[in-house]
Amino acid sequence: MADHVLALNAGSSSLKFALYELVEDRRPSMRWRGQIERLGDAPRLLAQSAGGRAVDRPLTNTKTHDEAINAFLDLVQEYLPDIRVRAVGHRVVHGGTVYSEPVPVDDGVLDTLAGFIPFAPLHQPYSLAGIRAASAAFPDTIQVACFDTAFHRAHPWVNDTFALPISYYEKGVRRYGFHGLSYDYVSNKLKEIAPGLYDGRVVIAHLGNGASMCAVSGGRAVASTMGFSALDGLPMGTRSGQLDPGVVLYMMQQEGLSADEIADMLYRRSGLLGLSGISSDMRTLLAADTPEARKAIDYYVFRIRRELGALSAALEGIDALIFTGGIGENSARIRQMVCDGMRWIGIEMDHNRNADGGTVLSTDFSRVRILAIPTNEEMVIARAAARLVQ
Ligand code: ADP
Repeated sequence: MADHVLALNAGSSSLKFALYELVEDRRPSMRWRGQIERLGDAPRLLAQSAGGRAVDRPLTNTKTHDEAINAFLDLVQEYLPDIRVRAVGHRVVHGGTVYSEPVPVDDGVLDTLAGFIPFAPLHQPYSLAGIRAASAAFPDTIQVACFDTAFHRAHPWVNDTFALPISYYEKGVRRYGFHGLSYDYVSNKLKEIAPGLYDGRVVIAHLGNGASMCAVSGGRAVASTMGFSALDGLPMGTRSGQLDPGVVLYMMQQEGLSADEIADMLYRRSGLLGLSGISSDMRTLLAADTPEARKAIDYYVFRIRRELGALSAALEGIDALIFTGGIGENSARIRQMVCDGMRWIGIEMDHNRNADGGTVLSTDFSRVRILAIPTNEEMVIARAAARLVQ
C-alpha cells in the first residue's frame, strides 16, 4: 500500500483537493487534483490525475462538506483502491496570533481555531467544517492545519497594528495578512531558482480572484496589503480592497444599511465587478474593451503600482518583483501595465519575455528583476502534512 497525503481547501461552496504520493525521502508527488464545486446547489466533481485521466460528474445528494469528502473518497476507492492516506493537511484561513507554523489538530486546537471565527466569520467556519469532515472520514489519520496568516506573523509591530486604542491590539484587532501559503510557496521557489534574490528585498503580487501583495526580506514577511480581514489592500474580483472607514460610517448612518448588507457589498458586489458592472473575471474585462471595463482595469493597475511603491518603502528598496496567481501568472497585459508605470523605481520589463510567459520578465539591465512564478498552495500543505507524518 503506497503512502499518500491529502491537501484539502474547504470554501463556502467548494472543496478543493489534491492527493500526493509520498515518494523517495517522503517527497509529495501529485497524483490527483480537483474540486467539488457548487456545493449545496448543483454540485459537480471535477478531477484530473497526473497521468491525464479526467473525471467530470454531477453529484446528486451532496450538500455538506462531509458528503463532499465522501464523494471524493468514492473517487479514490474507484481509481486508487490500494493507497493509505497517512495525513490530511488543511488550508485554514485564520491562525490568530497563536500559530506561525502548521500544527497537528486535536480537540484543543479545534477549540482555539473556533475562537478565531469572529475574526473571519465568512471563511473560518468552512475551514473547520473541512477538518471535522476529514476527521470523520479518516479517524486514525493525523490532521494538519496550515494557516494563511502564519507567514505574516513575522511582521514588525508597526505593520501588525492599527492606530486604534491599544486595547484593540490586545483583543486581536491586528494586521494579520492572508495568502500566506502562496507567499510561502513562491518565496521557497525563489530560494531554489535564485538564492541571491531570496536573500534580498522582494515584493510578491498574488493576483487571483482574491489579491494581495507582500513585502518579503530574506524569506520573512515584512508587510502585506491585506490586514485584519481579506478585504483590505488591492481591489479584487468582487471585494473592494482599501476603503476609508468613513465610507462604512456613511453607509450605516446616512443610508441605514445593516452590517450584513455592507458585508455583502464589500465582499461580493465591489472590486472589478462593482466598478465595471460587467464581471469579476479579469479575462472577461480584458476582452470586453468597454469604457467601464477599462476604468476598472485602470483602477486595479493603479492600486498595484501604489502598493508596490509603499511595500518597496517598507523594505527600504526592492530587488525583485514576482507575479503569481491566475492574473499574475497569465496576463502579460496586466503585468505590462503595472511595470510600465514603475520604471522610476528601476523596474524595466522585457516585453518579448513578458509576452512569451517565461520565468524572467525583466531586461538584462533592469535593476529590479521581474519574475512570474506559478503558485502551488496545495504543495505547501502537502509538504507540511508529510513532515508531520515523519
Ligand atoms: P483564485 O483566487 O480563485 O484561486 P485564480 O488564481 O485562479 O483564482 O485567478 C482567477 C483570475 O485569473 C480570474 O480573474 C481570471 O480571469 C484570471 N485569469 C486567468 N487566466 C488569465 C489570462 N490568461 N488573462 C487574464 N486573466 C486571467
